[in-house]
Amino acid sequence: QGTLFIVATPIGNLDDISQRAIKTLSDVDLIAAEDTRHTAKLLSHLGLSKRTFALHDHNEKQKAQQVLTWLQQGQNVALVSDAGTPLISDPGYALVSLCREQGAQVTPIPGACAAIAALSCSGLPTDQFQFIGFAPAKSKARQSFFSDAYNSGMTSIIYESTHRIMASLEDLSAALGEQAQVVLAKELTKSFETFFSGTVTELQQFLQQDPARQKGEIVLMLPGKPNKASAVSEEALRLIALLEEHMP
Ligand code: SAM
Repeated sequence: QGTLFIVATPIGNLDDISQRAIKTLSDVDLIAAEDTRHTAKLLSHLGLSKRTFALHDHNEKQKAQQVLTWLQQGQNVALVSDAGTPLISDPGYALVSLCREQGAQVTPIPGACAAIAALSCSGLPTDQFQFIGFAPAKSKARQSFFSDAYNSGMTSIIYESTHRIMASLEDLSAALGEQAQVVLAKELTKSFETFFSGTVTELQQFLQQDPARQKGEIVLMLPGKPNKASAVSEEALRLIALLEEHMP
Protein backbone atom coordinates (compact mmCIF):
# COMPACT_ATOMS: atom_id res chain seq x y z
CA GLN A 1 0.00 0.00 0.00
CA GLY A 2 1.30 3.45 -0.91
CA THR A 3 0.66 6.71 0.91
CA LEU A 4 -1.08 9.86 -0.25
CA PHE A 5 0.84 12.90 1.07
CA ILE A 6 -1.05 16.20 1.31
CA VAL A 7 1.79 18.65 0.82
CA ALA A 8 1.52 22.36 1.65
CA THR A 9 3.46 24.67 -0.68
CA PRO A 10 4.29 28.40 -0.31
CA ILE A 11 1.65 31.17 -0.57
CA GLY A 12 4.12 33.65 -2.03
CA ASN A 13 7.61 33.43 -0.63
CA LEU A 14 9.20 30.31 -2.12
CA ASP A 15 11.36 29.84 0.97
CA ASP A 16 8.21 28.86 2.88
CA ILE A 17 8.48 25.18 2.07
CA SER A 18 9.55 22.67 4.68
CA GLN A 19 12.50 20.30 4.37
CA ARG A 20 10.02 17.47 4.75
CA ALA A 21 7.86 18.80 1.89
CA ILE A 22 10.92 18.94 -0.40
CA LYS A 23 11.96 15.43 0.60
CA THR A 24 8.43 14.09 0.07
CA LEU A 25 8.08 15.73 -3.36
CA SER A 26 11.43 14.27 -4.31
CA ASP A 27 10.60 10.76 -3.02
CA VAL A 28 7.05 10.18 -4.31
CA ASP A 29 6.31 8.36 -7.55
CA LEU A 30 3.75 10.88 -8.76
CA ILE A 31 2.53 14.38 -7.97
CA ALA A 32 -1.12 15.36 -8.39
CA ALA A 33 -1.23 19.11 -9.04
CA GLU A 34 -4.09 21.59 -9.28
CA ASP A 35 -2.23 23.16 -12.23
CA THR A 36 0.74 21.22 -13.57
CA ARG A 37 2.36 24.30 -15.19
CA HIS A 38 2.23 26.19 -11.90
CA THR A 39 3.70 23.23 -9.99
CA ALA A 40 6.39 22.78 -12.68
CA LYS A 41 7.75 26.21 -11.68
CA LEU A 42 7.98 25.20 -8.02
CA LEU A 43 9.60 21.88 -8.86
CA SER A 44 12.14 23.57 -11.11
CA HIS A 45 12.90 26.06 -8.31
CA LEU A 46 13.54 23.06 -6.03
CA GLY A 47 15.65 21.37 -8.70
CA LEU A 48 13.21 18.43 -8.96
CA SER A 49 11.97 16.73 -12.06
CA LYS A 50 8.87 14.60 -11.42
CA ARG A 51 5.90 13.04 -13.14
CA THR A 52 2.90 15.28 -12.45
CA PHE A 53 -0.74 15.05 -13.49
CA ALA A 54 -3.64 17.46 -13.15
CA LEU A 55 -6.21 17.02 -10.41
CA HIS A 56 -8.63 19.93 -10.30
CA ASP A 57 -12.28 20.66 -9.58
CA HIS A 58 -13.39 19.43 -13.02
CA ASN A 59 -11.72 15.99 -13.08
CA GLU A 60 -11.22 15.26 -9.39
CA LYS A 61 -13.89 12.58 -8.94
CA GLN A 62 -12.63 10.52 -11.85
CA LYS A 63 -8.92 11.05 -11.02
CA ALA A 64 -9.51 10.13 -7.38
CA GLN A 65 -10.38 6.59 -8.43
CA GLN A 66 -7.19 6.35 -10.50
CA VAL A 67 -5.06 7.65 -7.61
CA LEU A 68 -6.63 5.11 -5.26
CA THR A 69 -5.66 2.33 -7.68
CA TRP A 70 -2.06 3.59 -7.79
CA LEU A 71 -1.95 3.72 -3.98
CA GLN A 72 -3.33 0.18 -3.78
CA GLN A 73 -0.57 -0.88 -6.19
CA GLY A 74 2.00 0.50 -3.79
CA GLN A 75 2.85 3.84 -5.41
CA ASN A 76 3.29 6.95 -3.26
CA VAL A 77 1.48 10.06 -4.44
CA ALA A 78 1.72 13.71 -3.33
CA LEU A 79 -1.13 16.19 -3.74
CA VAL A 80 -0.25 19.88 -4.09
CA SER A 81 -2.31 22.92 -5.01
CA ASP A 82 -1.16 26.19 -6.58
CA ALA A 83 -0.51 27.73 -3.17
CA GLY A 84 -0.75 26.83 0.48
CA THR A 85 -2.50 23.83 1.94
CA PRO A 86 -4.45 21.60 -0.48
CA LEU A 87 -8.20 21.23 0.24
CA ILE A 88 -8.36 24.64 1.93
CA SER A 89 -10.51 26.37 -0.74
CA ASP A 90 -8.62 24.12 -3.15
CA PRO A 91 -9.14 20.69 -4.76
CA GLY A 92 -8.57 17.42 -2.91
CA TYR A 93 -11.68 16.73 -0.85
CA ALA A 94 -13.08 14.02 -3.16
CA LEU A 95 -9.69 12.32 -3.25
CA VAL A 96 -9.01 12.38 0.49
CA SER A 97 -12.53 11.29 1.42
CA LEU A 98 -12.35 8.38 -1.04
CA CYS A 99 -8.94 7.33 0.31
CA ARG A 100 -10.19 7.47 3.91
CA GLU A 101 -13.31 5.51 2.99
CA GLN A 102 -11.22 2.82 1.29
CA GLY A 103 -8.66 2.62 4.09
CA ALA A 104 -5.74 4.09 2.11
CA GLN A 105 -3.07 5.91 4.07
CA VAL A 106 -3.22 9.72 3.96
CA THR A 107 -0.59 11.86 5.68
CA PRO A 108 -0.22 15.65 5.97
CA ILE A 109 3.00 17.51 5.23
CA PRO A 110 1.97 20.77 6.90
CA GLY A 111 3.05 24.25 5.92
CA ALA A 112 1.71 27.59 4.71
CA CYS A 113 -1.99 28.41 4.79
CA ALA A 114 -3.11 31.99 4.10
CA ALA A 115 -5.99 31.78 6.60
CA ILE A 116 -3.77 30.79 9.52
CA ALA A 117 -0.93 33.14 8.54
CA ALA A 118 -3.42 36.04 8.39
CA LEU A 119 -5.12 35.14 11.68
CA SER A 120 -1.83 34.78 13.53
CA CYS A 121 -0.94 38.44 12.85
CA SER A 122 -4.44 39.96 12.89
CA GLY A 123 -4.64 40.99 16.51
CA LEU A 124 -8.12 39.39 16.65
CA PRO A 125 -9.11 36.73 19.20
CA THR A 126 -7.70 33.34 18.22
CA ASP A 127 -9.22 31.21 20.99
CA GLN A 128 -12.21 30.46 18.78
CA PHE A 129 -12.33 31.16 15.08
CA GLN A 130 -14.02 29.93 11.94
CA PHE A 131 -12.74 29.76 8.38
CA ILE A 132 -15.66 30.34 6.03
CA GLY A 133 -13.95 30.37 2.63
CA PHE A 134 -14.98 32.79 -0.12
CA ALA A 135 -17.99 35.09 0.36
CA PRO A 136 -20.93 34.35 -1.97
CA ALA A 137 -21.04 36.19 -5.31
CA LYS A 138 -24.50 37.75 -4.87
CA SER A 139 -25.04 40.80 -2.75
CA LYS A 140 -27.99 39.56 -0.67
CA ALA A 141 -26.36 36.22 0.11
CA ARG A 142 -23.16 38.07 0.99
CA GLN A 143 -24.95 40.30 3.50
CA SER A 144 -26.41 37.27 5.30
CA PHE A 145 -23.00 35.60 5.14
CA PHE A 146 -21.41 38.57 6.96
CA SER A 147 -24.26 38.77 9.52
CA ASP A 148 -23.96 35.05 10.26
CA ALA A 149 -20.17 35.40 10.55
CA TYR A 150 -20.54 38.20 13.11
CA ASN A 151 -23.33 36.46 15.04
CA SER A 152 -21.23 33.32 15.43
CA GLY A 153 -19.37 35.19 18.16
CA MET A 154 -16.06 33.92 16.78
CA THR A 155 -13.38 35.54 14.69
CA SER A 156 -14.22 34.79 11.04
CA ILE A 157 -11.62 34.32 8.31
CA ILE A 158 -12.76 34.93 4.73
CA TYR A 159 -10.90 34.59 1.43
CA GLU A 160 -11.59 37.41 -0.98
CA SER A 161 -10.77 38.07 -4.58
CA THR A 162 -9.28 41.30 -5.76
CA HIS A 163 -12.11 42.18 -8.18
CA ARG A 164 -14.80 41.67 -5.52
CA ILE A 165 -13.30 43.27 -2.44
CA MET A 166 -14.98 46.68 -2.82
CA ALA A 167 -18.43 45.15 -3.46
CA SER A 168 -17.95 42.84 -0.49
CA LEU A 169 -17.07 45.73 1.80
CA GLU A 170 -20.23 47.58 0.65
CA ASP A 171 -22.27 44.53 1.73
CA LEU A 172 -20.37 44.14 4.95
CA SER A 173 -21.13 47.76 5.77
CA ALA A 174 -24.82 47.29 4.86
CA ALA A 175 -25.05 44.15 7.02
CA LEU A 176 -23.05 45.20 10.08
CA GLY A 177 -22.89 49.00 9.93
CA GLU A 178 -20.19 51.46 8.89
CA GLN A 179 -18.41 51.13 12.20
CA ALA A 180 -17.94 47.34 11.97
CA GLN A 181 -14.37 46.33 12.71
CA VAL A 182 -12.38 44.44 10.08
CA VAL A 183 -8.82 43.34 9.45
CA LEU A 184 -7.44 42.92 5.94
CA ALA A 185 -4.28 40.89 5.23
CA LYS A 186 -2.92 41.22 1.70
CA GLU A 187 -0.07 39.69 -0.26
CA LEU A 188 1.14 37.67 2.72
CA THR A 189 4.82 36.66 2.58
CA LYS A 190 5.31 38.80 -0.57
CA SER A 191 7.05 42.16 -1.08
CA PHE A 192 3.86 44.20 -0.66
CA GLU A 193 2.49 42.39 2.37
CA THR A 194 -0.02 44.70 4.10
CA PHE A 195 -2.19 44.49 7.20
CA PHE A 196 -4.97 47.02 7.79
CA SER A 197 -7.20 47.13 10.89
CA GLY A 198 -10.05 49.55 11.40
CA THR A 199 -13.69 50.14 10.64
CA VAL A 200 -15.10 48.99 7.33
CA THR A 201 -15.41 52.66 6.29
CA GLU A 202 -11.74 53.30 7.04
CA LEU A 203 -10.77 50.20 5.06
CA GLN A 204 -12.90 51.34 2.11
CA GLN A 205 -11.18 54.73 2.20
CA PHE A 206 -7.73 53.12 2.45
CA LEU A 207 -8.39 50.95 -0.61
CA GLN A 208 -9.98 53.78 -2.61
CA GLN A 209 -7.06 56.14 -2.01
CA ASP A 210 -4.90 54.02 -4.31
CA PRO A 211 -6.49 51.41 -6.63
CA ALA A 212 -3.22 49.41 -6.51
CA ARG A 213 -4.15 48.63 -2.89
CA GLN A 214 -7.17 46.64 -4.15
CA LYS A 215 -4.94 44.30 -6.15
CA GLY A 216 -3.33 41.11 -4.91
CA GLU A 217 -4.44 38.24 -2.72
CA ILE A 218 -6.64 39.12 0.20
CA VAL A 219 -7.81 37.61 3.47
CA LEU A 220 -10.56 39.49 5.32
CA MET A 221 -11.19 38.91 9.02
CA LEU A 222 -14.01 40.00 11.34
CA PRO A 223 -14.24 39.82 15.09
CA GLY A 224 -17.35 38.01 16.33
CA LYS A 225 -20.18 39.65 18.24
CA PRO A 226 -19.16 39.97 21.91
CA ASN A 227 -20.99 37.43 24.02
CA LYS A 228 -23.52 38.53 26.66
CA ALA A 229 -21.20 37.90 29.59
CA SER A 230 -18.49 40.17 28.27
CA ALA A 231 -21.08 42.76 27.18
CA VAL A 232 -22.33 42.88 30.79
CA SER A 233 -18.85 43.20 32.17
CA GLU A 234 -18.12 46.03 29.73
CA GLU A 235 -21.21 47.83 31.02
CA ALA A 236 -20.07 47.20 34.60
CA LEU A 237 -16.64 48.64 33.80
CA ARG A 238 -18.25 51.74 32.32
CA LEU A 239 -20.31 52.26 35.50
CA ILE A 240 -17.27 51.78 37.71
CA ALA A 241 -15.41 54.39 35.67
CA LEU A 242 -18.35 56.80 36.07
CA LEU A 243 -18.51 56.19 39.82
CA GLU A 244 -14.78 56.69 40.17
CA GLU A 245 -15.13 60.18 38.73
CA HIS A 246 -17.32 61.08 41.72
CA MET A 247 -15.15 59.51 44.38
CA PRO A 248 -12.89 61.62 46.54
N1 SAM B 1 -5.04 26.66 -0.27
C1 SAM B 1 -4.71 28.05 -0.06
C2 SAM B 1 -4.28 28.26 1.39
O1 SAM B 1 -3.88 27.30 2.07
O2 SAM B 1 -4.32 29.39 1.86
C3 SAM B 1 -5.83 28.95 -0.49
C4 SAM B 1 -6.23 28.83 -1.94
S1 SAM B 1 -7.56 29.85 -2.44
C5 SAM B 1 -7.90 29.28 -4.05
C6 SAM B 1 -6.79 31.38 -2.82
C7 SAM B 1 -7.15 32.49 -1.83
O3 SAM B 1 -6.32 32.33 -0.67
C8 SAM B 1 -6.87 33.88 -2.35
O4 SAM B 1 -7.98 34.39 -3.07
C9 SAM B 1 -6.67 34.65 -1.04
O5 SAM B 1 -7.92 34.94 -0.45
C10 SAM B 1 -5.94 33.60 -0.18
N2 SAM B 1 -4.48 33.74 -0.33
C11 SAM B 1 -3.63 32.88 -0.93
N3 SAM B 1 -2.36 33.34 -0.85
C12 SAM B 1 -2.42 34.53 -0.20
C13 SAM B 1 -1.46 35.49 0.20
N4 SAM B 1 -0.17 35.35 -0.10
N5 SAM B 1 -1.88 36.59 0.88
C14 SAM B 1 -3.19 36.74 1.19
N6 SAM B 1 -4.14 35.87 0.83
C15 SAM B 1 -3.77 34.78 0.16
